[in-house]
Amino acid sequence: MAKNIQAIRGMHDILPEQSGLWRFLEGRVVDVLGRYGYRELRTPVAEPTELFRRSIGDVTDIVEKEMYTFADRNGDSLTLRPEGTAGCVRAGIQNGLFHNQVQRIWYAGPMFRHERPQKGRYRQFYQIGAEAFGMEGPDIDIEIVAITHRFWRELGLDGLELQINTLGSSAERLLYREALVKYLSAHRQLLDEESRRRLDSNPLRILDSKNPDLREVLGQAPVLMDYLGTESREHFDTFRRGLDELGIGYQINHRLVRGLDYYSRTVFEWVTARLGAQGTVCAGGRYDGLVEQLGGRATPGIGFAMGVERLILLLEQGLPRLDMGRPDAYLVLVGDEPQRHGMILAETLRTALPGLQLLTHCGGGSVKSQFKRADRSGARFALILGEEELGRGTVGIKSLRDDTEQQEITQAALVEFLGKMGCNNGAFVCR
Ligand code: ATP
Ligand code: MG
Repeated sequence: MAKNIQAIRGMHDILPEQSGLWRFLEGRVVDVLGRYGYRELRTPVAEPTELFRRSIGDVTDIVEKEMYTFADRNGDSLTLRPEGTAGCVRAGIQNGLFHNQVQRIWYAGPMFRHERPQKGRYRQFYQIGAEAFGMEGPDIDIEIVAITHRFWRELGLDGLELQINTLGSSAERLLYREALVKYLSAHRQLLDEESRRRLDSNPLRILDSKNPDLREVLGQAPVLMDYLGTESREHFDTFRRGLDELGIGYQINHRLVRGLDYYSRTVFEWVTARLGAQGTVCAGGRYDGLVEQLGGRATPGIGFAMGVERLILLLEQGLPRLDMGRPDAYLVLVGDEPQRHGMILAETLRTALPGLQLLTHCGGGSVKSQFKRADRSGARFALILGEEELGRGTVGIKSLRDDTEQQEITQAALVEFLGKMGCNNGAFVCR
């Protein structure tokens, strides 16, 4: 027999038993974004390859080795988006969103990177991100971080640490780059092959190396902070003061340079020790040059993106037995007449109780087999409608979660009963 077709390596199904937690996370996050005045922008999952080469940078991991790039039938080079910012900026320029206005935008969806799959690192993964355009001052930097801070609070996640740094302006970075290259060249023998290669192309990225052998030599390297001019320093100081005033704790990490080329000034990451090497759950920063670099009018921007799978892993650790998606009731229907009448009863209940989650038995079978299914569904109550109940205009009610005796009530009283039992609150315990 032919082998069953499998999903592509590093690309995963999100199964019905997991999707409740995804909805919960997405719901909370989108709600918070709305409360700060951010609105959704949906862009295509594929873009012209050139967009990512020009924005992310030719000598980054993403563009060098992670992109899903292919020629379409016309021979045009397309790429599945590896991140969301480039598409937002492209759409903003194309639709005139940056002319004389500020924009607060969020996006969500799958991203694609050809990386080595492991826990917390996949080839298709989901990000939710936000971008704020047209605001230069550190106040919006503070807002952006405050939003992410609120996410964790409202998701019930703790133990996340905020790391911040500043990359200065491009002129300041150039000065620093010289100093860094000088230092690293003098210690060339301590670098790994990749870092040596980066020495010419993109030396700042060496600081971002995940090779533990480089820790010592990088720890002694000059720090960018010492090369900042007054304006950049003030921007960073005001940003820090804002976080202090909001009671948002942070660590300054001089080696935080982020994986993408387009950042300037503020950069930050939220990290956890609980996910091994894949510890960054949210990362962001300012990219004042990007809009112009992609052909738009100079427009400052700042944003973040978070890795949904990593947050889901954390949520699962914290709440091992979340009671998600259990139905309130399972309608057991024994006999042809009750089956037909049951469909009508179920619709009546759903209209009267919009929060009710009700499963109707389909496919007939014995009472015993129906009860088995009712139990397996996780439902709280079995509602029983057989020929006898139908004749009397009643329904049997049996609690499936405790030993309460089965009772019988009139169909007219059912709405009130279920309402009283709290079966009108929507299906998710976690809301
Ligand atoms: P990393 O250093 O872990 O490779 P990155 O710097 O490449 O991350 P960003 O491009 O900043 O990541 O993406 C923002 C967030 O998206 C990351 O902090 C992470 O939570 C998530 N993320 C990035 N790549 C992946 C991936 N391959 N699989 C799952 N999540 C990812
Ligand atoms: Mg990466």
